[in-house]
Amino acid sequence: MSDDSSESLLFTYFGTGSPYWKLSADSNALQLAGVKGIPNLAVALTASQADEIRAFTGVTSHAEIDIVLFGEPQRLSLVGKKDGTHSWSGTASDYMDTRAVAKDLTHGLEFAEQVISEVNSLVVIIDHNFNILRFNRLCEEATGLREEDVIGKSAHAFMAAGERDASRSNINEFFRSSVSYAVERTINTLKGPRRIQWRNKFVQSGSGPDQRYLVCSGTDVTEERKAQAKLLELATVDTLTGLPNRNAIYEKIEALLAAGRRFGVLFLDLDDFKQVNDHYGHTVGDNLIQAVALNIGTALRDGDIVARMGGASFLVLVQDTSVEHLENVALRIIDRLKAPISLGLIEVYAGCSIGIALCPEHADTVDQLIRCADTAMYAAKDSGKRTFRVFSREMDDKVAENIWLDVNLRKALESEHQLKLYYQPKLNVKTGEVRSVEALLRWDSPERGSIAPAAFIPYAEDSGLIVPLGRWVMRNAARQAAAWKAKNLNLRIAVNLSARHLTSPSLIRDFADSLHQSGGDQCLLDVELTESCLINDAASAHAVISQLRQLGAQVHLDDFGTGYSSLSQLARLPLDAIKLDQSFITAIDSNTTSQALIRSMIAVAQQLKFAVIAEGVETEAEADFLKSEGVDYIQGYLYGRPMPAKEFEDWLNNKGKKLRLVA
Ligand code: C2E
Ligand code: CA
Ligand code: CA
Repeated sequence: MSDDSSESLLFTYFGTGSPYWKLSADSNALQLAGVKGIPNLAVALTASQADEIRAFTGVTSHAEIDIVLFGEPQRLSLVGKKDGTHSWSGTASDYMDTRAVAKDLTHGLEFAEQVISEVNSLVVIIDHNFNILRFNRLCEEATGLREEDVIGKSAHAFMAAGERDASRSNINEFFRSSVSYAVERTINTLKGPRRIQWRNKFVQSGSGPDQRYLVCSGTDVTEERKAQAKLLELATVDTLTGLPNRNAIYEKIEALLAAGRRFGVLFLDLDDFKQVNDHYGHTVGDNLIQAVALNIGTALRDGDIVARMGGASFLVLVQDTSVEHLENVALRIIDRLKAPISLGLIEVYAGCSIGIALCPEHADTVDQLIRCADTAMYAAKDSGKRTFRVFSREMDDKVAENIWLDVNLRKALESEHQLKLYYQPKLNVKTGEVRSVEALLRWDSPERGSIAPAAFIPYAEDSGLIVPLGRWVMRNAARQAAAWKAKNLNLRIAVNLSARHLTSPSLIRDFADSLHQSGGDQCLLDVELTESCLINDAASAHAVISQLRQLGAQVHLDDFGTGYSSLSQLARLPLDAIKLDQSFITAIDSNTTSQALIRSMIAVAQQLKFAVIAEGVETEAEADFLKSEGVDYIQGYLYGRPMPAKEFEDWLNNKGKKLRLVA
């Protein structure tokens, strides 16, 4: 007989190589049905053949039976299942017609596979070597792992470390005895450790001793167990990384302190983690934390403990140590984290900053110790990130200073009298007129007296206080400009804008509000920006500059020549003027290198149609040189220092007039 269904006996009589069969509970006649139009045929089965078919359950099964068909012996392969309370059905094929038999079986298998995938329970199938064979869709959802990635891996690899051995001997024992059992285990997943209740059964497929499989079906009971606050492990384990959490490491440190032991800690914080989270989303952020946790582990010796403190912060505890050893550990970790970490299609550079503190040198309580390490970590960040610092008392002074600044700057912003604007004139070289001034912030602290901007602006930038501070400056400068206009003083005021404020979403609104509140119908405010504003995101800086100009402001690039903006970048910016930095101006009349630099900067600015302002001019010789080179405006102590508004008005009436005469 051929395996080609078109030539089989079945095909001849039924018009198909795979007729449909049906058997009921009350008759041993097997009904066979072919294509439409061909009459059905009933074939008598022996009682044992009928019983064999009636043993089919809801799972697709298979039987071979010998019958006589139209006087000829025919061996049939039946694939089917129980389809009702009293009936069984499926497809029949010539047992030699392997293609048809396989097709029918495959249908049955696909159905079974789909059931495993979709069943509302975690299903894992394990072979006698403990390797995973199936991992259904609910498992994928619950663990964040993909079936294709776990197949062939040992099931033990996913067990919580403390339960691995118990589970191994359990499974061994049950493979030997083949008894079903239930057990609860903690599994490490990409979503952190989960507590799963498993019901495990053995299934034999084929006859070999190796063809026994453990079918584990599980329910996630993590939340239930947590609620029963019973699972000690969850209280001491960080759920994302499986590392000890803050509680656990604090307890360990307490114990070492109580025992009077010498030890050190490294406080580690990922650099720029927020950017990763903002840019790629929290899932990538979480995956990065997990990968970093593993990387840190590879840089440690046995006995060192790494814990997750929360966010992107970790603490490493090293016993019986020295500063040198702790520094080496820090270097190793920084080195490990230098290489990019690949997360799917994305590669992330996860540098970190590390602070080191020792017991008993730096602290004798847990809180003190962690605070010292944390302070040192911030010092490492301050000195450029991707490095480490050992705690010192001076760092504490810096922290204390920052706390003082934070508290008192906020008070200053609320009080009416502590902050003031001073105004420094800019002289138009051609006309000798003063039509514009720069507003410079002054802080008169009731506690410390006058504080220079250099002493508080950097902290204001770090802390974000620069935004309300910048808002205050704009508002007061706009009010002053309107007041001068009301007195017929024709003056524009330039305010300094920090990079941090420029990228704040409120900037344009703040600027427009201050114009609006000043009541003037004309924009009398200009803006001075530094090149640092352009570094991170030149495109959005460009957009903000355009918006400011649309509101009527001139935009000046401050401290020009000290930053790194490229000429091509500069050419694309919609600027009105550049301000040559004071460092080029000092002794310009005698310094030929500075002269060459100034000449080329002026040439570039003129080419791009930007006005040129020179600041920090202190001597007549400097002023003469700058005038001869075609600088448009000059600002500096030579003409006028920054002054309070009233003093500036007096200056304008006296000295300002004289300047006009000499120009
Ligand atoms: P800047 O914007 O470059 O301001 C110029 C600085 O040089 C001012 O120092 C000014 O008083 C000083 N100066 C002006 N002419 C001369 C001179 O002929 N010789 C010398 N030696 N210095 C001169 P100040 O007022 O201490 O401000 C320092 C920096 O603080 C400013 O540098 C600016 O970056 C920042 N700053 C001041 N006020 C504000 C503000 O309202 N907002 C922001 N974001 N920053 C401000
Ligand atoms: Ca300035
Ligand atoms: Ca400047």
